[in-house]
Amino acid sequence: MPMYEYYCRACNGVFELLRSARQSTDSQPCPDCDAESERLMPTTFTAFTVRDGLPRSIPDRGTFWHLGQEVKRPVNEPALPFEHPDLDKHPETMPSAEEIEAFDHQLDRDAHEDAEADARGMLAIQPQREMARGKFVQRLAATGTINRLRPRKRSKGTSA
Ligand SMILES: [Zn+2]
Repeated sequence: MPMYEYYCRACNGVFELLRSARQSTDSQPCPDCDAESERLMPTTFTAFTVRDGLPRSIPDRGTFWHLGQEVKRPVNEPALPFEHPDLDKHPETMPSAEEIEAFDHQLDRDAHEDAEADARGMLAIQPQREMARGKFVQRLAATGTINRLRPRKRSKGTSA
């Protein structure tokens, strides 16, 4: 009889059982806690668990997942939202004066739009915008050009 892998959600464990192919898709009791456990399909990567507070694939290969990409470690150093050190393989290129100016203008436009939205009580967090902004700020920081942004007062944030 072939060997199949099963995953127990109750105790977050993987175990193997010899089962006939016909029986293999049935859920099986976990040997540790007796909870019903589902078979792990060896070719699929859809099963996840949370370990150390971070999502990991099952079977657990010791890797972590960050925004759908497999990484070797959790983010355990200062990093921007949506960024992961493992995935940042490209050295940053120096932004041109035009790019910095365009970014400056964009910040002003965004702040203006936010103020208007806030006045209508419709201020919303915009993850795409924040991500793009974060990336550019990181590029400025990495290339030592962050001080070329116009200094501006911190916008008065509304409590989200
Ligand atoms: Zn169990």
